[in-house]
Amino acid sequence: MASTILSDCSSSSAARILPFHMIRSTNALRFRCSVFLHPKTPNPRQIHGKSLAFTPVAMTTETSAKVIDGKSIAKQIRDEITSEISRMKDEIGIVPGLAVILVGTRKDSQTYVRNKKKACEAVGITSHEVNLQEDCTEEEVIKYISGFNNDPSVHGILVQLPLPRHMNEQNILNAVNIEKDVDGFHPLNIGRLAMQGREPLFVPCTPKGCIELLHRSGIDIKGKRAVVIGRSNIVGMPAALLLQRQNATITIVHSSTKNPEEIIRQADIVISATGVANLVRGSWIKPGAVVIDVGINPVDDPESPRGYRLVGDVCYEEVAKIASAVTPVPGGVGPMTIAMLLSNTLESAKRLHNFK
Ligand code: NDP
Repeated sequence: MASTILSDCSSSSAARILPFHMIRSTNALRFRCSVFLHPKTPNPRQIHGKSLAFTPVAMTTETSAKVIDGKSIAKQIRDEITSEISRMKDEIGIVPGLAVILVGTRKDSQTYVRNKKKACEAVGITSHEVNLQEDCTEEEVIKYISGFNNDPSVHGILVQLPLPRHMNEQNILNAVNIEKDVDGFHPLNIGRLAMQGREPLFVPCTPKGCIELLHRSGIDIKGKRAVVIGRSNIVGMPAALLLQRQNATITIVHSSTKNPEEIIRQADIVISATGVANLVRGSWIKPGAVVIDVGINPVDDPESPRGYRLVGDVCYEEVAKIASAVTPVPGGVGPMTIAMLLSNTLESAKRLHNFK
């Protein structure tokens, strides 16, 4: 990741990008955001054969692009999950359970785990939390995973990443029962996602959230040309596989891609997940394209009380003038990630108890 970068595309002053683990709480951050006019008006639509609550994307005051309001769409999804959990509890007396294992004391990981726990409580999922010392062994982590694998009150198991360096992430993720792999990181789930005619039991939450944002904003994917920037196991690669499953034609751009802007300019849909602040400029975007910004990048901001603010991979001010729709950061993909984790946990409980 670059050590210095423009924090504001319209400004020529350089600002330092901060390591994410230095951030204490992302919730309290301020961001100069566009004004949402009608973010909560429901408008049911038929999309891909099923009825979805449709959140109209909101117009900004200064730009032509519509803002895809991830916060409001995620709230709709959480409300749907809450009522499904209540129906499940009434009909079969089962409450979904999510186990979260945190190793070490990273501030950002602690914040994520706390937010996940709060989100579980809000929709009626029981959360089970294990906090292990930074220097614990791989065997200890696997022992807890095995316990949760065999616990019928646990329907989803999540190991907060990153793990301390002395641990083999692969061994640990492989130990999670595929039927409780609500993060969707197990190689069998990823393998099934990549194969024609196979269905994964779970899809990774962030890319699943990106696709859900497109669906619920009424954006057609079939036949579209899509570019995914980034190819990580947790975002870029599964996002590309998901778009392909939706019959888009995909190109993946990564750090060795030559002339990325030429490729990206051909895309109807762009999903960016690089961790490079303001990488994607307005001139890289085809007029009318839809842009989903996964990046969460803290950059220096002397005007902010905390001294930093969060920006995406996308130079929002420029892209909002060219694209037809764009996600803000914060308030775009971020809230969808937790909503998809809750959705995966509910799905798992329903499957394990054969509840329709
Ligand atoms: P990784 O660092 O694992 O992957 C980054 C990817 O971006 C790599 O494939 C890398 O290419 C590519 N890349 C880096 N620089 C460039 C460049 N200049 N041009 C093109 N491609 C580039 O990051 P993650 O996928 O884990 O996360 C990406 C971003 O998404 C981060 O900002 C992270 O904070 C955010 N994130 C947000 C989430 C949310 O809920 N909103 C959830 C998860 C992540 P190469 O493979 O060649 O190295």
